[in-house]
Amino acid sequence: MTSCAPPPVLESSTATVDPIVKPAQFLVGKTADELKALMKELGQPAFRAEQLHQWLYVKCERDYDKMTNLAKGFKEVLAAQYGVGPLSVVADQQSADGTRKFLFKTPATEKKPSQNIESVLMHFRDRDVRSVCISSQVGCAVDCSFCATGKMGFKQNLTVAEIVDQYLLAQHLSGEEVRNIVFMGQGEPLLNYDNVVQAIRILNQSAEVGIRHITVSTSGIVPKIYQLAEENMQIVLAVSLHAPDDETRSRIMPINTKWPVADLMEAVHAYVAKTKRRVTIEYVMLKGVNDSQAHAHDLGRLLKGLKCNVNLIPYNPIGDEYDFERPSNEVIVRFLDTVMTYGKKVTVRLERGVDIAAACGQLANQYQ
Ligand code: SF4
Repeated sequence: MTSCAPPPVLESSTATVDPIVKPAQFLVGKTADELKALMKELGQPAFRAEQLHQWLYVKCERDYDKMTNLAKGFKEVLAAQYGVGPLSVVADQQSADGTRKFLFKTPATEKKPSQNIESVLMHFRDRDVRSVCISSQVGCAVDCSFCATGKMGFKQNLTVAEIVDQYLLAQHLSGEEVRNIVFMGQGEPLLNYDNVVQAIRILNQSAEVGIRHITVSTSGIVPKIYQLAEENMQIVLAVSLHAPDDETRSRIMPINTKWPVADLMEAVHAYVAKTKRRVTIEYVMLKGVNDSQAHAHDLGRLLKGLKCNVNLIPYNPIGDEYDFERPSNEVIVRFLDTVMTYGKKVTVRLERGVDIAAACGQLANQYQ
């Protein structure tokens, strides 16, 4: 079980220039075998790797001084060469509903500048479940018209360590056990495929997050859905469909012109056939765009025969310059009832953190 360190006091940095660091200079992101190899290289006994593994991934400790079973001299050697994790904390905002939005900073390297990224920690009190929504990229190239992240454009992929570190820091800063991870923050996870898959393996095998408690959400990168099906990972795949027909979907998701609805559904059926896992179909509800009864019937028919649940996401406002509105509750309930007549389980996503721009589609580093 996870036992997290208490929250630290946040300190603001006075540095004006971000130091250049090499990505390999962090311990977070290394697998158990890589830690063993490192200990061998440093002339340490093999059990040191297991001790470090526990401190990093199970106790979520950030401070070498608090790793009490490591020898002082060894800690000094480590600290001189390796940081614990790559991310530093820039801001920590709390919503009225208890949701926390973290702004983290990635390290500058010789190849890329430092960037800010966001993660959101949600507490669903009715079930006493904590879930962290993490980012896979800085910005996003997919440019869905209802999404603040898409408006930032694509900046860079996150490394394995930067992805894993969001989860570890969420636990460390909150001092709470977080057992669910959703890849629904900034970025399209399947466009940073190798790093996301490796991060999932570390989160599962090292941080001990149940693989069925990890959800990857995609806008529909068709070739990568086929590839993911071959990974033999029992994750939850969430597909952002958002419209049942090409005309409506292309209007709000430009990626539909590359991989239209029929191609996407073929890939999703193949994924379910291969993994035997139920998928989640996500559907953001936009007033007057995709919320009609005709859309609801088309959606029900499209999903016939697919092992899936449907999650309706009432649109969250992201600024006056976007001309979308949220449908009324009556429209949403009618839409839900209609899709349910096709034998689907349909839920409406509970809003979290709207007041701090932490809800779905709102992540755009607004602290900046
Ligand atoms: S909804 Fe997801 S895929 Fe679409 S622009 Fe936003 S982050 Fe990218």
